[in-house]
Amino acid sequence: MDIGIISQDERSAAFFDAAALGTLLIKRCRACGTWLGPEAGGCPDCGATGDDGPGWVPASGRGTLISWAVVYPRPASAGEALPTVLALVEVDEGPWLHTRLDTGDPAALHAGDPVQAHFAHPPTGESFPYFRLTRG
Ligand SMILES: [Zn+2]
Repeated sequence: MDIGIISQDERSAAFFDAAALGTLLIKRCRACGTWLGPEAGGCPDCGATGDDGPGWVPASGRGTLISWAVVYPRPASAGEALPTVLALVEVDEGPWLHTRLDTGDPAALHAGDPVQAHFAHPPTGESFPYFRLTRG
């Protein structure tokens, strides 16, 4: 599935460098220990920012499917193209991540399904995480 070319910037470099090595990074507040999503700049719980605030930490890569949307290809590109599933996943550490779910049958998805992070390594652009169901 084509999600376009991803480019990292200063704020996302650590996240995408880790994805290239097969590691999912999220953030955890250095001051209070609250787990946060990759996009967190400051801690919503204690207000810490900068070197005292959220820092990158490896996540388990395991999670739970919260919600999802099935996006169908535009008619011009239909043909063999499969629908894309955009998902909201709660990783075991707690934060919710917006991600892509690789599934053969979107109609078979259920909220609460266990999922696991995998990594795509496109020929151009950054590697990125996506999720797959862990059941049968
Ligand atoms: Zn905090």
